[in-house]
Amino acid sequence: MNTRTNQTNIYAIIPEELWNGISENPAKDLAVIVNEKIIQDIIPVHMVPNDINTIKLPGCTLLPGLIDAHVHYSSVMGPAFLLAGVTTIRDVGNDLHWILKERSFNESNNDSGPSIVCCGHLQDGPVKYWPNMGRANINADSIRSSVKEHINAGVDAIKLYTSLDVEMVYAGIDEAHKLGKPVTAHLGECSVEDAISAGLDCIEHLSGCRPAWANSTQKEDDALIDLLLKHNVAIDPTLVVFDRVAKGLDLVFERDNSRNWVHPSHLHYWNEYQLFIRTNPLKVQQEILYLKRFLLRAHQSGVTTAMGTDTPFPRLAPGFSLHDEIASYVDAGIKPVDALRSATSVNAKVLKKESVIGKIAKGFDADFVAVKGNPINDIRDITKTELVIRKGMVISQLKMQKDLKSTFDNIPNDAITLDFFDRIK
Ligand SMILES: [Zn+2]
Repeated sequence: MNTRTNQTNIYAIIPEELWNGISENPAKDLAVIVNEKIIQDIIPVHMVPNDINTIKLPGCTLLPGLIDAHVHYSSVMGPAFLLAGVTTIRDVGNDLHWILKERSFNESNNDSGPSIVCCGHLQDGPVKYWPNMGRANINADSIRSSVKEHINAGVDAIKLYTSLDVEMVYAGIDEAHKLGKPVTAHLGECSVEDAISAGLDCIEHLSGCRPAWANSTQKEDDALIDLLLKHNVAIDPTLVVFDRVAKGLDLVFERDNSRNWVHPSHLHYWNEYQLFIRTNPLKVQQEILYLKRFLLRAHQSGVTTAMGTDTPFPRLAPGFSLHDEIASYVDAGIKPVDALRSATSVNAKVLKKESVIGKIAKGFDADFVAVKGNPINDIRDITKTELVIRKGMVISQLKMQKDLKSTFDNIPNDAITLDFFDRIK
């Protein structure tokens, strides 16, 4: 490799502290050398060559770019994700060919949005719940051919949805694994025990995990936790989406500045969506406590704990809602550093991207978020974004603002937005 240091595409980031996505504590006196899109090296500050550009970040902690493992992407969400320090997302339900195009577009346009790991359509049963994000499958054979079509088209993973029966869940997982791709699921018809024995890799929303949703005994919790551990199944609880359902009338959301980063058509949907008045808020508020209890117990037992949000569902601003999910983990009793691991190195592993993202390490993508303070000591500091870098490119807040505003006159023509409008029509 050419290591001439006078090239402008090589620069050093010198933060007050550096947290690499893994370690228990941040380290001081380290600089990250970025070469184009890649982390070339991590060296002591005094060894930084004099002739290269430097970005000095006094009072800041540098972290790996954050990862949201549960998103339904719209291109109008790109600027918000980047501004909040989320440099990679896993899309778990969208139009197959549209999301593949967005993935390639973002791959070569560093400041258009985050890197995308995608599942294509969510694989549903004979009657699909989401007209645009879903794919209907009438039986085990049809789900096999849909999974094959998706993987041949280039998806990174498969997402199974609620109305699949046991037979179809088995067929979907079997086909995906034969073709080397992991499977995540929002379970409904199929029990969690059946899905796990079929080889499911990740569970969204703790769906189907009965003990997680009730005032269960430790024995009931442990039976499920043992099963998750034995089969190495990750959980992606998405506490914030339930929090918003539970607290639909909480006026704090009306004063929430992150709304400024949400497209007007999505804000309109948030206002109109009847979910809030249909649901029994007290019941959901109670369930969130159960979910948090289960999450903590599962995490302490060693269950792989991913982290996602389900943005752009109501009151989940892209990117910023991941900060809220991180805080929810801490609220559940998880240490800040572990919540941050979930949002970085653990998510990278669940997304099968652990050799390129989720860590500040030699050879990894140059994806970073720098925040004022130290979120390992005080998790609230995760919101104090000072600088975001995606694949070596410094993200400009001004440009993100302009990019987002330029979309305001049109309603995005993507699956999530169309499905939102289908729900409220
Ligand atoms: Zn979802």
